[in-house]
Amino acid sequence: MNARQAFTDTRDAGHFIAGSRVDGAGSRQPIFNPASGAASRHVVLATTDEVRRAVDSAQAAFPKWADTPPIRRARIMFKFLQLLNEHKDELAHMITAEHGKVFTDAQGEVARGIDIVEFACGIPQLLKGDYTEQVSTGIDNWTLRQPLGVVAGVTPFNFPVMVPMWMFPVAIAAGNTFVLKPSPTDPSPSLFIAELLKQAGLPDGVFNVVQGDKVAVDALLEHPDVKAISFVGSTPIANYIYETGAHHGKRVQALGGAKNHMVVMPDADIDQAVDALIGAGYGSAGERCMAISVAVLVGDVADRLMPKLIERTKTLKVLDGENLEAEMGPIVTKAAHERISGYIALGEQEGAKLLVDGRGFDGKQAGEGCGEGFWMGGTLFDHVTPEMRIYKEEIFGPVLSCVRVHDLKEAVDLINAHEFGNGVSCFTRDGNVAREFGRRIQVGMVGINVPIPVPMSWHGFGGWKRSLFGDMHAYGEEGVRFYTKQKSIMQRWPESIGKGAEFVMPTAK
Ligand code: NAD
Repeated sequence: MNARQAFTDTRDAGHFIAGSRVDGAGSRQPIFNPASGAASRHVVLATTDEVRRAVDSAQAAFPKWADTPPIRRARIMFKFLQLLNEHKDELAHMITAEHGKVFTDAQGEVARGIDIVEFACGIPQLLKGDYTEQVSTGIDNWTLRQPLGVVAGVTPFNFPVMVPMWMFPVAIAAGNTFVLKPSPTDPSPSLFIAELLKQAGLPDGVFNVVQGDKVAVDALLEHPDVKAISFVGSTPIANYIYETGAHHGKRVQALGGAKNHMVVMPDADIDQAVDALIGAGYGSAGERCMAISVAVLVGDVADRLMPKLIERTKTLKVLDGENLEAEMGPIVTKAAHERISGYIALGEQEGAKLLVDGRGFDGKQAGEGCGEGFWMGGTLFDHVTPEMRIYKEEIFGPVLSCVRVHDLKEAVDLINAHEFGNGVSCFTRDGNVAREFGRRIQVGMVGINVPIPVPMSWHGFGGWKRSLFGDMHAYGEEGVRFYTKQKSIMQRWPESIGKGAEFVMPTAK
């Protein structure tokens, strides 16, 4: 099947408020198919008033939804899970059509989103409180967790299904109502998801979608009824969301950008390391927050690894994402294509050795109708050094930089000095090296012989340093904590109350 046939809706992508699609009165922006370069439909950017309507609808739905027993909320999630499984390929085709990533990778994205919905189905168990009998004579004390109210999610272009699912399944299962502001680059899956939730029996107003840009985000940040904001995107915007949200008294988790390193030790299996670098460097055209963008080659490993890496980078199958042979699809937008090309030129100027140049890749080679798309091949740099901007900054494209170091300590020091700390990986056969690496590295998500260590749905996702602003990670038990507040109740009955007023601090008796 061809991407341009797979998802062919031409209606404007508007909003979903109080259980219905809303056209929206704001300005319209084209949505491109990155493979063909053609505008396929338009997204309507929300006005401040439209965002207020969405928050009002969520606020109106909150009391009844929060009072709904968790087991009944979970049953709606189970039904949603079933619908998602029935429609997962439709979602994957939407992703390929608007993001460009290859269809099989889009299927993987949907599957990792579905994992979180499965986790959220366990919400009765996750919300179970703690109880202590007899904390003092005749007195019991327990803690419970209650929902916050209206919560909002602001999400990036690169995972239009999975990243919203890091947020809303946990938030709504915990009894909150939700307003999602997806990326305007690939907005269609969010509306499809809203319809599936409605079909699953979710009451109107519990899940709302507003398309938009900074105007919509600012309206959410400033609205007093929005109690918490989850953000995933680039570091400058994450920083802004964290500061502005906190200024307005909101709970905020803001996940930012990354520069993920993969260390290859001299004892590593070279073929495995090359496979890992190729898949994690160029998969999804490097547009993953957990993509490997720096290979740290220790000792003499570079001499053995580099010829194989060059060969594999040159022979990457860069094809239309709907072609099942494709390993890498197009770049998401023309602007991103220009930014990445600019970084490749910069790398040359900075003195890095350009071994494979992805610029100039002709889209016609990617398939029929791809001549005008945003195409690029894989790029490989060697002898990159820590002072270079191509090392320091997030390129977010299919550009892999190799840095050479002498030993494990130098590798660890290099990575720990970087401003980002999202993901990292180390390829080795030595258990002690692996253990030391895992302990000493200042990064939130670590893989040992695993290039993209995205934690499973019950473990929670989050980087360190300028890759995450806030205290709690996305999904898993930290996600449940983020979307609920703890209450402690202490109780006794008249039979156990002694006579007389007490003026000293109460202690256990
Ligand atoms: P982005 O920061 O441009 O946009 C993210 C969201 O913020 C979008 O919804 C966008 O509409 C909104 N936004 C953009 N500019 C804004 C502004 N000035 N004020 C308020 N809101 C604004 O990010 P992107 O290009 O969509 O996504 C790529 C980035 O996301 C990369 O930096 C990548 O590393 C990061 N990312 C991080 C993670 C993670 O888990 N840490 C996961 C996925 C993506």
